[in-house]
This record gives sequence, structure tokens and C-alpha cells, in this order.
Amino acid sequence: MIIARGLDEIDLARAQLAIAGRSVAYVPTMGALHAGHRSLMALAHEYGDAVIVSIFVNPLQFGPDEDYARYPRQLEADLEICRDAHVDVVFTPSVSDFYPAGRQVTLSAGALGSILEGASRPGHFDGVLTVVSKFFNIVRPDVAIFGKKDAQQLACIRRMVTDLNSPVRIIGAPIVREPDGLAVSSRNRYLTQAERTSALALSQGMLAASRQKTPSAALHAARQMIAAEPGVEVDYLSVVQPGSLAEVSADYTGPALILVAAQVGTTRLIDNADLVFSPIVSPDGSNSVVGSPEPTPAVV
Ligand code: AMP
Repeated sequence: MIIARGLDEIDLARAQLAIAGRSVAYVPTMGALHAGHRSLMALAHEYGDAVIVSIFVNPLQFGPDEDYARYPRQLEADLEICRDAHVDVVFTPSVSDFYPAGRQVTLSAGALGSILEGASRPGHFDGVLTVVSKFFNIVRPDVAIFGKKDAQQLACIRRMVTDLNSPVRIIGAPIVREPDGLAVSSRNRYLTQAERTSALALSQGMLAASRQKTPSAALHAARQMIAAEPGVEVDYLSVVQPGSLAEVSADYTGPALILVAAQVGTTRLIDNADLVFSPIVSPDGSNSVVGSPEPTPAVV
């Protein structure tokens, strides 16, 4: 496994892969690697001859009151996980190399980046798109893998690739969960035992929503489940269309997403689940909305 710490090293490693005619699947991460990241690396092997992983805690996507300084950093353990996952190249740039003094240009995620997560974290998705775009230019991947855990991030990246004609194929990877349903996250380590138990209300809410037949029933089921847990303070809970993330109407049919963000103690957690609402004709001949016979399970 090649460890590229500087821009020259990643350029050389990338050029060698190009000369060897190997396609590249790329997994961007902020480190503190866990089972979710490992699943992305495994998927990357299915899409590329070689796998490149970046590890970089991106200051641009953290707000002034967020956890940039305390975000877990564990490079040696991360490299071991990458080795174990047969990663070909790990790129670990320093902040000063990546963002040299004098830079001015950033990307804007537009309206899609200012709703939901973006409303609570202004500038977050601008920072995400700026870093991902820079990584795309450096790594020049054929395919990039992102987790559905960060559903709005994935939507913003798909939008960026479309709007800026980036020649990168984007793949969304399923959410990896703990056996009890909690979505795996680098931030779960901040939770106390009691908070971790409270946090389960989020995945349980997503699961309850995925069993419902209408958007309003899905929202109601999730809200009830989460509201019953006093340790969880909901920021937003919304049923939206997957691409635009616009809230769906009560009679909406088709694929949808339920998204939640909540504060559990000092930790902000997010979760989501895919939903499908299908129209049927009722016995009286009118159209109504029903869930798919087998809704995508929120907890696997
Ligand atoms: P992060 O290191 O948190 O920036 O995440 C790097 C990538 O891993 C992103 O594409 C995330 O969506 C993805 N990821 C994080 N947690 C999970 C999870 N539990 N399941 C699937 N993908 C995940």
C-alpha cells in the first residue's frame, strides 16, 4: 500500500496507475475509520482496478462552534484498516498543503446545500463540495463511493457532478449499522452509555417510518418513536424527494427519503431511510397512496 502524504506523491502514484491502465475507485474519508468506511472500500474494489482512499479532516466543512478540534484522529489505526481492506493508495495531505495561503475560490452548493442539514450548519456543504472537487482533480477517479448515511451530502455531490460536468461516476453505498440498529459513525464514540441508548430512537424511528404506507404516516411514526425518548432533541425530521430533497406532499407517490438530525447530549447525529410510496386504486375507484409491499428496511 502506498501512503502519499504530499501532492507530489499522490501525483506520482496516480500516474503509475494510469500507465498501468488501471481504473480508479476513490473513497474520501475524514479518518477514524469504522465498518461504514470499510464497506465503502469493499464496494470500491467492485468498481475499480485500484482503490484510493483519502484521509483528511476538512476544516472548511466545520462551523466555528463544531467539533473540528476534537474530531478523532488516529492515522496509524486507519492505515492498518486500509491495509486490511487491500487499499492501493492512501492520500493523507496536511491542511497547509491542501489549502495553501492565498486561496480564494470555493464552491457553493446552492439551494440544495442550505436546507435541512445546511440550515443548521451554514456553509457545511460548500466546504464539502470544495474539498471533494479538489480531491477529484487530484485523484482523478473513474468512480467515487459515498455513503447513503450522509444522504444530503450524496445529493449535493450528485448535483455538483451534474452541474459541473465532472467525469466521475458517483456510487451511493448502503448505511452500515450496529447490530442494534444505530448507524455507525465516527461521532458515536462521543456518546455516553446512556446517550447511546437514547440515540437508538433515531434508527428505530427510521425503521417505524419505513413500515408506513403514506408520507404523513411515516412522519408521524418516526416522530412518535423519537419524541418518546427525552434524551434526543430533534433538529429536523422530514420526508423528502431523493434528488431535490424537497418535502413531499401528503399524496406523493414514488421513492422518498426520511431524514433526521438530532442532538444527543453534546453530539449531533443524523440518520435516514429509503421509503417508497405506491399508488393503488381503492375499491371505490379513487387513487390513494400505499407503501411498497416490502419497504426498504431502515435497519439491516
Ligand atoms: P466521514 O469520514 O464521516 O466523512 O465519511 C466518509 C464516507 O463514509 C462518507 O461517504 C460517509 O457517508 C460514509 N459513511 C460514514 N458512516 C457510514 C455508515 N454508517 N454507513 C455507510 N457509509 C458511511
